[in-house]
Amino acid sequence: MKGLGLDGPVLIVAGRAAKSLLSEVWRTSLDEAGYAYSVHDFGGECSHTEIGRIVGAAREGKAATIVGAGGGKVLDAARAAAADLNLPVVNCPTVASSDAPCSALSVIYTDEGVFQEYRFYRKNPELVLVDSQVVAHAPPRLLAAGMGDALATWFEAKTCVAGHVRNLRGGASTRSALALAQLCYQTLIEDGPEAMRAVSLQAVTPALERIIEANTLLSGLGFESSGLAAAHAVHNGLTAAPATIRFFHGEKVAFGVIVQLVLEGAPQAQFAEVFRFSSSVGLPITLEQIGCAQMPREMLQRVAARTTAPGETIHNEPFEVTPALVADAILAADAAGRAWRKLTA
Ligand SMILES: [Zn+2]
Repeated sequence: MKGLGLDGPVLIVAGRAAKSLLSEVWRTSLDEAGYAYSVHDFGGECSHTEIGRIVGAAREGKAATIVGAGGGKVLDAARAAAADLNLPVVNCPTVASSDAPCSALSVIYTDEGVFQEYRFYRKNPELVLVDSQVVAHAPPRLLAAGMGDALATWFEAKTCVAGHVRNLRGGASTRSALALAQLCYQTLIEDGPEAMRAVSLQAVTPALERIIEANTLLSGLGFESSGLAAAHAVHNGLTAAPATIRFFHGEKVAFGVIVQLVLEGAPQAQFAEVFRFSSSVGLPITLEQIGCAQMPREMLQRVAARTTAPGETIHNEPFEVTPALVADAILAADAAGRAWRKLTA
């Protein structure tokens, strides 16, 4: 860390699993490097209250660098506290379940865990450090969820670039960002199933390493530099259906990808490739697989209304998107997914 200009003392914001897995590593490596450090036990929610607690702990320990170790919410809270104190932040994700670690934004929730706001920062983390051994020991479903989040990157980036839409930072996309998004998709298709087999054995293989890179880095750079479109808006809409709450972000995004393909009139071969991939890694392709075996009309309309709320990224699609259009696309995506499952059962 010293080579990167990161000074001690260090405050480590740690999730429970990260702490039990990594305490010994922190003790030996930070002691060896001559860094004083203290550990703040993450309170469980990336809320203003918790961020305030981290700021307090950092001030008390006179921290010069903040390290976040754990899942997405831990990293988001560490990043927010670092921004409040104008300190550098190091992210150490212990799971590859979303593309949050490399980004310059946090999702802020209430203390009860209800979505509140996005918070954007002036810069990305100073360092993102992933230990593949640690990721290999996390539940396989988390790696699959990360692939669901990463699956959307290429489709959303392509749509944003074709429509000359401004990216999440308000700038124009670049050819390199689009190339990274495409590499992300290609990596998933080629390595996804093998990486799932590796984590089911808690083994680290080259395929797993490449999927960690796709989920964490390629997807993060791709979405932040090119933009989001229908898939993520459908995810946000699905959170209006209480039955989807026990499903991960990336799982709902994966279904959102199919809805986006329907809306854009994608060719059958593209549907088939996505269905084959998602099924092979355990990602949902039907409403039933995200807890909505029954989707009453009223609920469907609520989801469609939330998906098309003003400011939602679905309006980056190159045509006018209405709640009725989205409701039909959700039903059509579900029907296509069910047909595929029947065909391949
Ligand atoms: Zn996402």
